[in-house]
Amino acid sequence: MRYQAFLIKYAEIAIKGKNRYLFEDALVHQITCALHRAEGVFKVYKTRGRIHVEAESEYDYEETLDILTKVFGITAICPVVVLEDEGVEGLRGKVVEYLGKIYPDRVSGDQKYTFKVNTRRARKNFPLDSMETSASVGEAVLDAYPAMKVDVHEPELMINIEIREKIYLYSESIKGACGMPVGTGGKAMALLSGGIDSPVAAYMIAKRGVTIEAVYFHAPPYTSERAKQKVVDLAALVSKYAGNMKLHVVNFTDIQMMIYDKCPHDELTIIMRRYMMRIAEMIAKEEGCLSLVTGESIGQVASQTMQSLQVTNEVCTLPVFRPLIGFDKQEIVEVAERINTYETSILPYEDCCTIWVAKHPVTKPSLNIIKKHENHLKDGVDQLVKEALETREIIEIS
Ligand code: ATP
Ligand code: MG
Repeated sequence: MRYQAFLIKYAEIAIKGKNRYLFEDALVHQITCALHRAEGVFKVYKTRGRIHVEAESEYDYEETLDILTKVFGITAICPVVVLEDEGVEGLRGKVVEYLGKIYPDRVSGDQKYTFKVNTRRARKNFPLDSMETSASVGEAVLDAYPAMKVDVHEPELMINIEIREKIYLYSESIKGACGMPVGTGGKAMALLSGGIDSPVAAYMIAKRGVTIEAVYFHAPPYTSERAKQKVVDLAALVSKYAGNMKLHVVNFTDIQMMIYDKCPHDELTIIMRRYMMRIAEMIAKEEGCLSLVTGESIGQVASQTMQSLQVTNEVCTLPVFRPLIGFDKQEIVEVAERINTYETSILPYEDCCTIWVAKHPVTKPSLNIIKKHENHLKDGVDQLVKEALETREIIEIS
C-alpha cells in the first residue's frame, strides 16, 4: 500500500467568509502550477474544507512533498490512502493492513504504542456514525496488534478516517509553508539585488499571498554577466515559493556614471538609490503593481539610517514595504538559510552599488541638499531614465 494522494489542510484562508472560495481556488491554482515542476501527472481539486492532490501516474514522493511544502496557504500535508467503501468490515481490514505496512516496527514491537481513531463522517449513509466507526476500527486494531493501546488524550498515533464519496485514511501530517495563497493579495515589485536581504524580503511578502515581480539594476561592464546570473538564480529560488515571476533587468550604467560625474561622491549611494526607486516605481505602475518591496533594515548600512530611508522614500508614491526593517542580520540569515537562498547570495560577485561607493558616505543626508545636488543632473538624466526603461530585459522565471 503506497500513498497515491495527499490531503491538503489550510487554516487562515478558511476564515475568509464569503470570499473563501476565491482563496480555495487560488490555492488549487498554485498547487497545480507548482506540481507542473514535478515528475508525474496530478489531479488537484477541492471538496468542503479540503483540497485533494491525487497522483494519476507514477510520481516521486519526496520531490512532490518538497514542492507542496513550499506552496503558501497550506498548513499541513497529509499523505493519504484512498479506499473504496467496502463496508465496516472492509474498512477495519484496511486500517489494520495500513498500520502493518506503514509502522511495522511500532505495531509489533515490545513497547506500547498508543493510538486514537478519529473519524469524520461527511457522508451520512455509511452504516455506523463517527463514534461507532472509531470504536469498531479501534477494536480491530487492538485485536490485530498486542502492542497497541488506546490513549484518547495524548496518543502517539492519530488514525484519521474521513468518510466522503470515498474513504480517506491518514496518520501523518507534514507542516506546510503557511501564509496565504499567492494571487490573493495583489502584486508588488521587489527590488532584487544579489545580496542576502532582498530575496528574503520578496519571500516574506509573497508569503502573504502577494504576486511578486522583480527588478534588478546592473551596470555592465562594471558588473559582470555572472553577477546578473546570480540574481536570475536567486529569483528562481524565490519563485519556488512565490510562483512564476517576471524579472526586469535594467541597465543602470549611464545613470550611475552621470551621478558620479555631477554629484558629490559621498552622496552617490543615496542619489543612486533614489533613481532605483523612481525607475522601479515606473515599472511597477506599468505592470499593475501596488507597492514596492526592498530588503532594507534600519541602521544596517549608511543608506539605511532613518534619515537615508526618509530621503530614499521621498521619491515614491507607492507604498514601500520593508519586511526586514526590524530584523538583525543574523535573523535574516536564518530565513535565507531555511529558504535556501543564502548559499547563492554569498557568492562574491560585484554589485552595482559597491563599485564607486565612497569611503565615507553620508549617513544623515538632508533632503534639501540632496535635491539641490540632484538638480545637477537635470540636463539629460530624464532621457537616460527613459532609455533604461525602454532597453530593459524581461526574463520570465518559472
Ligand atoms: P541586499 O542584501 O538585499 O542586497 P543590502 O544589505 O546589500 O541588501 P543595499 O545594497 O543598501 O542593502 O540595498 C538595499 C535594498 O535596495 C536591497 O535590499 C534591494 O531591495 C535594493 N537594491 C540594492 N541594490 C540593488 C540592485 N542592484 N538592483 C535591485 N535592487 C537593489
Ligand atoms: Mg546589496
